[in-house]
Amino acid sequence: EIRTRFAPSPTGYLHIGGLRTALYAYLFAKKNGGKFILRIEDTDRERLVDEASEIIYRTLKDTGLIYDEGPDVGGEYGPYIQSERKDIYRDYAEELVRRGAAYYCFCTKERLSGLRTECEAKGEQFKYDKHCLSLTPEEVRAKVAAGEPYVIRQNIPTEGETTYSDMVYGDVTVPNSDMEDNILLKSDGYPTYNLANVVDDHLMKITHVIRGIEYLSSTPKYNLLYEAMEWDVPEYIHLPPVMRDKHAKLSKRHGDASYEDFVEKGFLSGAILNYIALLGWSPSDNQEIFTLPELVDAFDVSGISKSPAIFDVEKLKWMNAEYIRALSEEQFIEMAMPYFGQVIDPEKFDLPLITRLIQPRLEVMTEIPDKLRFLSKLPDYDISLYSHKKMKVTPESALVYLEAAYPVLRDLPDFTETMIHDSMMELVEKLGVKNGQLLYPLRVAVSGTPVTPGGAIEIAYLLGKHETLSRLETGIA
Ligand code: GLU
Repeated sequence: EIRTRFAPSPTGYLHIGGLRTALYAYLFAKKNGGKFILRIEDTDRERLVDEASEIIYRTLKDTGLIYDEGPDVGGEYGPYIQSERKDIYRDYAEELVRRGAAYYCFCTKERLSGLRTECEAKGEQFKYDKHCLSLTPEEVRAKVAAGEPYVIRQNIPTEGETTYSDMVYGDVTVPNSDMEDNILLKSDGYPTYNLANVVDDHLMKITHVIRGIEYLSSTPKYNLLYEAMEWDVPEYIHLPPVMRDKHAKLSKRHGDASYEDFVEKGFLSGAILNYIALLGWSPSDNQEIFTLPELVDAFDVSGISKSPAIFDVEKLKWMNAEYIRALSEEQFIEMAMPYFGQVIDPEKFDLPLITRLIQPRLEVMTEIPDKLRFLSKLPDYDISLYSHKKMKVTPESALVYLEAAYPVLRDLPDFTETMIHDSMMELVEKLGVKNGQLLYPLRVAVSGTPVTPGGAIEIAYLLGKHETLSRLETGIA
């Protein structure tokens, strides 16, 4: 059975790159009838952020990336939070020591920083010098018994090279001399990622490790651990980075890094997920709009690209507009309600009509308040707004036609959209003018702005008779 996992560190919001990793791991598992697992990697105790795990659970649920096993849903291979597996890692670290693939290290901070200075002086990158590898088992036991703090380091061979085959990037070979004797178990007893990812991927029976390219070149190091333990090495699918442009990654500072940033900016969950599916993967045809089940169907590792994916906000906006247009009236109103509430009292307006007017014109939901603000209060406007050359409207003509429209609207027995429409069309005819010569000034008068969602008639109807007449009075005055 195919098993993939998403293994985020709970360090804050879920980054777009992280969500993409989760999505691909989900798609790969589901495409192959397998399981998708969530594992929280919280062994770096200094980088923990409260709530971060909840954000991860919530985001995956919001986006429909339902995991089969995970911290809050359980499963056969739990616990799924690394800090709850602390003892497991120690056992394996000790086993690696017995197998000669790791060793205890008692070097002090002072010695290490001295070493670092030496390396730097020689213009070399810091590399631990295997000083403690020469300790005998008796010496190690004595030091441990005496309570000396220690770490356990991986014992990387100094010669040769290590190779594996990545399903996206092909053969990756790293000379062993390029690798370091990284810490596997820290002095606080927590494992580092180096150890924990290997132990957990093995114990959780992960068959395909799908993660960011930043792990591509350290994977040989992990594979040495698998080999030392005589475990099967999983398949690897490393993913290209997600960039804002050719040079920069997405970043928190630019507010374009996390899923929540985009939700806050008025993007729909489905659109975000659909868009990030295409960040580094392309289907075999040119289809762009996909539901999640359609993605599962279409997903194939051969469509994953090796080159960095550029995050194009304009493209996301286009896609979001498509998703907004596809909402039913009911769905739209429900999602728009918080935005309506910012500028109007939703109870006082015909929401289906508002929906009809604005839904086709939105790229992001956050545009709603600006589009509707004029409904709750007539903005201050200048008489020059009544000038429109093309429509042959001048402030003088506007005044004449608005004065003509006022009594007609005032005397309508019912202020329905149809009645307003018919009465205004009659008036246009009676005056012998073009529609725009009457309707344009009417729109300015009732909205205080020349650009509105919908025309004069719809706005007058939305506002109701009382408000329409009072705004007309302002226009005429
Ligand atoms: N905790 C690692 C991260 O958040 C996971 C890497 C992996 O998937 O192995 O980057």
